Amino acid sequence: MSANAGERIARWVRPEVRALQAYAVPPVAPAIKLDAMENPYPWPPGLQAQWLDTLRGIAINRYPDPRAPTLIAQLRATYALPAHAGVMLGNGSDELLQVILLALAQPGAAVLAPVPTFVMYELLARALGMRFIGVPLAADFALDTDAMLAAIEREQPAVVFLAYPNNPTGNLFDARAIDAIIAAAPGVVVIDEAYHAFAQATQLPALARHEHVLVLRTLSKLGLAGLRLGFLCGAPAWLAEFDKARLPYNINVLTQATVQFALAHADAWHAQAAQIAHDRAALAQALAALPGVHAWPSAANFILFRTAHGADAVFARLLAQGVLIKNLARAHAQLKDCLRVTVGTPAENAAFLAALRTALTE
Ligand SMILES: *Cc1c(COP(=O)(O)O)cnc(C)c1O
Repeated sequence: MSANAGERIARWVRPEVRALQAYAVPPVAPAIKLDAMENPYPWPPGLQAQWLDTLRGIAINRYPDPRAPTLIAQLRATYALPAHAGVMLGNGSDELLQVILLALAQPGAAVLAPVPTFVMYELLARALGMRFIGVPLAADFALDTDAMLAAIEREQPAVVFLAYPNNPTGNLFDARAIDAIIAAAPGVVVIDEAYHAFAQATQLPALARHEHVLVLRTLSKLGLAGLRLGFLCGAPAWLAEFDKARLPYNINVLTQATVQFALAHADAWHAQAAQIAHDRAALAQALAALPGVHAWPSAANFILFRTAHGADAVFARLLAQGVLIKNLARAHAQLKDCLRVTVGTPAENAAFLAALRTALTE
């Protein structure tokens, strides 16, 4: 073994990559996992056996169809995607974010987003050597329209990312503020609708008005996080450029077949999402009733809250009781003492609340 990987790494790995922190996933398997916006429910009864039957016929020795026309047609029908728009598939929407940025990462190009928001925008931008411009959200995490417009004018970003609803704050940005940003943006505006199943709100109609708007969705939060399927909807001319930066066989045969099966039974998953959105209200109400807790309204399947008891301490006491949520205390200045809990089953939500009550009185 030759000595000292460190020296070679310092010489050859791009400085912007060395400066990054890898996306952190906790190694523990807690009793109650409410940290990652996963659907807590097993597959609807009876469907699993049928699904396994469909997998038997798959030719695993063959490459997947890189165009996946059947799957795309199903997505169009299930989500009423506009006929004039194109659809591109990703191995999770994370991959589509990466593909978009691969196509746009010219020297000096900027990526702009309101912050705090989904951390992958900044991580992927920096990994590709792009500038990341984070524009602080206003009070209660609304868009600061004037600050956004000024930053767009100054930085001329290649892409603006807007998570709708936003993660980790849970709110839907004001539609008029979004319109103003779309009108001002010199590049593309990507509306990331990862939580669409819980929000019942969409910016899809903007696609008919603006060719530089793209809408990003994923099936992860609906209940298929392990499969990895995201899709990007927008003007065919833009998608044709992004498609050149996509690996041709990015959606494997098992994912294609499984998503086709799941979409044929989409009502079952959407019923689960409706249940989760329903249970979110009770969880929010219970959180709001706790002394020293402030919870923000959410249109997603999670709730952001601040504790007066110190986020680190509360997080650790919850974990000691087998409940894992997300500690955001150090994620951003505006998230001081903030924690984020994913809405689970009613039993999980009750266990979380009981553990939290204990954590707040310790
Ligand atoms: C979870 C999440 C994603 C990534 O989802 P995958 O499709 O699982 O990669 C994208 N955007 C936002 C805002 C998210 O919260």
